[in-house]
Amino acid sequence: MEIIIARNSGFCYGVKRALHLTRETANKKKSRIFTWGELIHNPQVISDLDKKGIKVTTSISQLRPGDTVIIRSHGISPAIYRALQKKKIDIVDATCPKVKEIQQKVEKLGQARIEIIIVGNRHHPEVQGLLGYSHGQALVIENEQQARELPVKKKRAVLAQSTQEAELFGKIVACLAEKTEELSVYNTICQSTRVRQKATARLASQVDALIIIGGKNSSNTNKLYEISRRHQSRTYLIESPAELTPDMIREAKIIGISGGASTPPEVIKKTVLAINNSCQQN
Ligand code: SF4
Repeated sequence: MEIIIARNSGFCYGVKRALHLTRETANKKKSRIFTWGELIHNPQVISDLDKKGIKVTTSISQLRPGDTVIIRSHGISPAIYRALQKKKIDIVDATCPKVKEIQQKVEKLGQARIEIIIVGNRHHPEVQGLLGYSHGQALVIENEQQARELPVKKKRAVLAQSTQEAELFGKIVACLAEKTEELSVYNTICQSTRVRQKATARLASQVDALIIIGGKNSSNTNKLYEISRRHQSRTYLIESPAELTPDMIREAKIIGISGGASTPPEVIKKTVLAINNSCQQN
């Protein structure tokens, strides 16, 4: 039996940076420390941070002046940023620089009063943050059908949530091109996401089963699952090796593994070990 791990599996640059800033802050600060929402979509990491006294909040009223709030890699809207400043909260901004670039792009387009189409998940915190920068000019589109329903317009701009699937973005851009006289396209899918998605798709067609490891509430992990399923019906999504079952790897000669942007490397290693152990027992 062979195990192949997809390229770029596990923590991306933005997540590593946010975790580093959080741990550094915990070592330096004596104040109460919170993250604005879960730092990453990974239950084990959240529970470790909780044990270190780093709590999760999305409520300004829960905070006291002098508390520290860490902004996760997804970023926040300017309105929340201002509310935190007003309450005299010490802000540690761990917004991924790539997300910051998208925020700046949205703000510029919003100021120019250009309709902005954000291809992404409307409930995702990154998208919620981007909407806050848009000066009310942005619409979120999640699928091709919603793009087809848009009216014809003279001018529009389209960009993507950083972890959007490239294929869906391309399809929506094609739809919008037919409905817009002057369409500005900004492919804001981050490089790390693109490499991970491509590697997972390739691997899915080479293996007998593919295990995706990541938080079940993680948008990018769920996208990896969908991409893999298109090429490999034996695709499974697990959060930890404890969820691995013999059925998932039964009679598989080559097993692929791919991890989302918020999957810790230790969880990937432990899953490899668990697969090896399970094969030795059978
Ligand atoms: S997926 Fe890309 S944009 Fe999002 S946090 Fe990671 S590196 Fe940054």
